[in-house]
Amino acid sequence: MSKLINGKEFADKLCEKIAVEVKKLKKKNIKPGLAVVRVGEDPASTVYVNMKAKKTEEVGMHSVTKILEENTSQEELLKIVEDLNNDDSINGILVQLPLPKQINEDSVINSINPDKDVDGFHAINTGRMWSNIDSLVPCTPLGCKMLLLDELKDLTGKKAIIIGRSNIVGKPMAALLIGESCTVTIAHSRTKNLEDEVKKNDIVVAAVGVPEMIKGSWIKAGATVIDVGINRIEKDGKKKLVGDVEFDEAEKIAGAITPVPGGVGPMTIACLLHNTLIATCRINKIEIPKFF
Ligand code: NAD
Repeated sequence: MSKLINGKEFADKLCEKIAVEVKKLKKKNIKPGLAVVRVGEDPASTVYVNMKAKKTEEVGMHSVTKILEENTSQEELLKIVEDLNNDDSINGILVQLPLPKQINEDSVINSINPDKDVDGFHAINTGRMWSNIDSLVPCTPLGCKMLLLDELKDLTGKKAIIIGRSNIVGKPMAALLIGESCTVTIAHSRTKNLEDEVKKNDIVVAAVGVPEMIKGSWIKAGATVIDVGINRIEKDGKKKLVGDVEFDEAEKIAGAITPVPGGVGPMTIACLLHNTLIATCRINKIEIPKFF
């Protein structure tokens, strides 16, 4: 049986540390502010945005949620982003994805002031991350990296495979693991012999979006498995959340593994608050606290 990596516990502790730093900033009359913009009524986005607002307030930050109608035009959304860019009470801006079809996601992401881009998706932050220059880093891969460092301490020389090449998870995860001196493979939908590829690695990060696709028997004995997938399925007549990894079999072989739920998910929001704090410190030219 492998060790369970408790992302929920780690995220709670990180939020406690962030709340302490927020209190310190208040003594300097600075209150970090996070604005989250949702367009339309996508049920998953509604849950995520509500959770983000709740957690933002819990750590003592100023929270603004803007909810726009499904038929909002790109111009209207760009104007809202511009207003938030110019609003001094806001240090972090997140536009919840996916956006409705009439809106070009890249244009919106790249209209956010890179200093306030707490999702870390702006092309400037992407370039800075790949160049090892201080940047705002995408929250989910950042959370995965924190869990890996906490579990393994030093990642130098480890062989890591990331399954998934999205801009949100797979690609930034690769940049972060290269930064930790791992030897990185990125697998994707066109990868041949995925099973053989996965078996070679000490670290497996699954970010595919296909329920339990990565079989337990593919995992190298003792490997560390980070399951990013969040898939809603129906099993035995009951609705449940499962990851991209076949958890029950993988946990018999892996050294350590994240559960779904309670693994990577809570880390994403904690890292969003972490990024908002970092953005606030940078904007106000205050020393940035180190959390890991
Ligand atoms: P995406 O759809 O943008 O990308 C999926 C990737 O998987 C693609 O690069 C594709 O090439 C690859 N892929 C698809 N089928 C494959 C196959 N058969 N073999 C190998 N690779 C395959 O998804 P995403 O936004 O990166 O999200 C991936 C998963 O992570 C989803 O389940 C999503 O819900 C979850 N997610 C979780 C969090 C979190 O906070 N825990 C955050 C973001 C995404």
